[in-house]
Amino acid sequence: MKSFFNVVLIGAAGSGKGTQGELLKKQMNLLQMSAGDVLRQHRKDPNGKYTKIINEYIDKGQLVPSEITHKLIAEFIEKNIFADENKYNGVIFDGFPRSIEQLEFLDKFLSKNGNKIDAVVYIDVPAEKLVDRLSGRYACSKCGELYHKKTKPTKVEGVCDKCGNTEFVVRDDDKDKNAIMERFKIFEETTKKVLEEYTNRNIVVKVDGTKAPSEVNEEITKQLNKIKK
Ligand code: AMP
Repeated sequence: MKSFFNVVLIGAAGSGKGTQGELLKKQMNLLQMSAGDVLRQHRKDPNGKYTKIINEYIDKGQLVPSEITHKLIAEFIEKNIFADENKYNGVIFDGFPRSIEQLEFLDKFLSKNGNKIDAVVYIDVPAEKLVDRLSGRYACSKCGELYHKKTKPTKVEGVCDKCGNTEFVVRDDDKDKNAIMERFKIFEETTKKVLEEYTNRNIVVKVDGTKAPSEVNEEITKQLNKIKK
């Protein structure tokens, strides 16, 4: 099995993981695997085996049980990476792993395929800024391009810069204060342990996520290119 370049993006909700993943995937030809997106794809399927349970957990801001998350993520990677080894140079794991249990699963899953996590990017943003960011974000309902009322509005009001669509969505779990607080709590109590473990392995690159997205991106690519060599 080819050895891919595998990167984990860690950051609290609103830290910019999605935005940075989008930029990075094009620059390094990586597959962006957003755990939230993979799970959200199952949210609206009325006949889906996992629809009800996924909706329940996402609405509360809690981690979807591992047996479901692991299965869906493994399927996604197998289909998009291992089935066609030439398409991408590697994977951006955006929002996964978020617990030690998930980290151990990922280690095993990758090593079975002759792979490992090569780098972890921690996007650091202080808690007080995160609430502000979450409360202003929205996305194009057609192409998914991400925007923010204050920091990244559409160039023409009400029209998506990327695809011209005029409808936008705000995530339900961004509208619910309790769900937001729960996501922050899980990050502090559970996901920080993942960061600790990767720090012990000496593979963490910490970037200041309060800077402009282009500056954050520059710092990330600079650091990753050093590791990739
Ligand atoms: P995100 O799009 O990363 O903000 O994630 C949105 C929601 O999806 C989270 O609040 C969780 O309910 C669920 N989710 C995302 N990543 C994971 C994960 N690694 N494990 C379990 N649930 C997850």
